Amino acid sequence: MSTSATAAKIVIIGGEGIGPEVTAQSRRILAWFAAHRAMPIVLRDAEYGVGPYLATGEVMPADTWEAIDEADAIVFGATGGPETTAVPAEARRRASLLSLRRKFDLYANLRPIVAHPALAEAAPLKARVLDGVDFVIVRELTRGIYFGEPRGIERLADGQRRGFNTETYTTGEIRRIARVGLELARSRRGRLCSVDKANVLEASLLWREEVQALRDAEFPDVALSHLYVDNCAMQIVRAPAQFDVIVTSNIFGDILSDCAAMAAGSLGMLPSASFGAPDAAGRSKALYEPVHGSAPDIAGKAIANPLGSILSVAMLFRQTLKRPEDALLLERAVARALTGGARTADLAEPGSKPVSTREMGDAVLAALEALAPEMASGRAGEVAADKRQAAMTHS
Ligand code: NAD
Repeated sequence: MSTSATAAKIVIIGGEGIGPEVTAQSRRILAWFAAHRAMPIVLRDAEYGVGPYLATGEVMPADTWEAIDEADAIVFGATGGPETTAVPAEARRRASLLSLRRKFDLYANLRPIVAHPALAEAAPLKARVLDGVDFVIVRELTRGIYFGEPRGIERLADGQRRGFNTETYTTGEIRRIARVGLELARSRRGRLCSVDKANVLEASLLWREEVQALRDAEFPDVALSHLYVDNCAMQIVRAPAQFDVIVTSNIFGDILSDCAAMAAGSLGMLPSASFGAPDAAGRSKALYEPVHGSAPDIAGKAIANPLGSILSVAMLFRQTLKRPEDALLLERAVARALTGGARTADLAEPGSKPVSTREMGDAVLAALEALAPEMASGRAGEVAADKRQAAMTHS
C-alpha cells in the first residue's frame, strides 16, 4: 500500500451493531484496490460507540477525532442499538454520528437507488415496476428537525410530559442543498423532484419557494416538480422509475430512502456519501456509509449484507479519489457477485442457502479478480459511459 504524502487518508470506523461486520468487508475491498490497482490510499481504523465509551468514557476517543480530522474520507459502519442505552445522552451529544456530520457540516447526503436486474426475484416489488430504476435521493443532512432548537421533553403543570422538536430551514440552507440537487439533475436526465409538506408546514412552504426560485434563476434547463412527502412515498413504491433526482429535507430524506430501499431489493444494498462545502483547494471531507442502521436483530450473526457499505466505497473511489474506472470496476464486481448467485439472507429467495457477510465479501473479491484484467485491457468506452455517474460529485 502506498504511504506517499499524496496518498488519500481513509479512516474506517465500524461503530456499533452490524457496522463493524460490514466495514470489515469494505476494508478487504480497499486493501485489494491498494494492492492490485496501485491505489494511493492509507487506511487507519478507529473506534466509535458503546465499546470505547465503556473503556474510556468517550463515544469517540481522542484518537478517533484525530484520525477523522486528518482523513480525506471516513468509511463509517453504523450506530445505535439497545446496548447503547449504557451511554448517557450527554456523552452521545459530545460525540455521535449526528455531531460528526454537523462538525464538518456534511450537509449534502447522496443516496443512489439502483435496481439490480439479478435481484428482480428477490425484491418485494414486481420486476416490471423495477425496470429502469436509477435515481438519487439528495437528503439535507445537518439542519432541520434533527438539529432544530428548541427541543426537549418538559413537565407540564398538570403533571403530563410534553416532547417537542423544531423543524427549521433558512433560505441559505435550502438553496445550498437545492443547488446540489439541481446540478446533479443537470448532469443526469435533467429532472429534479423536490419533496416537502408545504400544505401544512411553513418550513416546507419556504423550502418549495426557494427551490423553485433557484431553479428559475439559474437552472431553467432542469425540469423541476414538487411532491408532498406522503405522495412521494406512494410514488416510490408505485412507479420508482419515474424519478431521476429527489431533493428533500433531513427527516423526509431519512424516511423516503428506507422506502426506496425496496426498489433496490434490501436496505442492506444502499450506499451513501455525504459532503460539506469545498475548501479553498476545492476539496471537502466526505463520509461514506451504508444507509442502514445497526440492525440489532441480526448483529453478531455474521449474516448482514455488506454491499451497501461496499458500494459506498465505490462512491469514495469516484468522488474523493476521482477514479471512476475503479468505481466502475467495483460496481461491476458487485453486480457479477449477485449474478453469480451470492445472496445474503436479506436477498435470498425461500429455500435457497444464503451466504455469510464474509462470503459475500469473498464473492465480490473473486469477481474483482476476474474483471480486473478485462478492465485493464482498455475499456475506455465503458468508462466514458460512466461519465453520468461520475458527475454525481457536486463539488
Ligand atoms: P436498521 O437499518 O438498523 O434495520 C432495519 C431492518 O433492516 C432490520 O430488520 C435489519 O435487520 C435490516 N437490515 C438493515 N441493514 C441490513 C443489512 N446490511 N443486511 C441485512 N439486513 C439489514 O434500522 P432500525 O432497526 O430502525 O434501527 C436500528 C438502530 O440503528 C437504531 O438505534 C437506529 O437509531 C440506528 N440507525 C442508525 C443509522 C446509522 O448508523 N446511520 C441509520 C438508521 C438507524
